[in-house]
Amino acid sequence: MKFKHPRQYTIKLLEMVDEGAIDPRKALELCLCYMGDREVADMMRTEQYLEDCYYCGGDCSSFEDHACDGYLGDLDNQYRAA
Ligand SMILES: [Zn+2]
Repeated sequence: MKFKHPRQYTIKLLEMVDEGAIDPRKALELCLCYMGDREVADMMRTEQYLEDCYYCGGDCSSFEDHACDGYLGDLDNQYRAA
């Protein structure tokens, strides 16, 4: 019986990137587009690439539909000044 690594396809994809079979940027886009935007936001937050909303302290800035008024209006230009 052949052992199957629980992340065999993850490893396969990474190997394909390493071998130049797929462009890293393309692989990234495929992964991100496959994930929902909430999942992307959750990953970014987990890896500390996403800060909490400057206004409400929550994650509203990841979900425009549910964003707080402070974020939507950007009253203090917290997001424009970068
Ligand atoms: Zn907010």
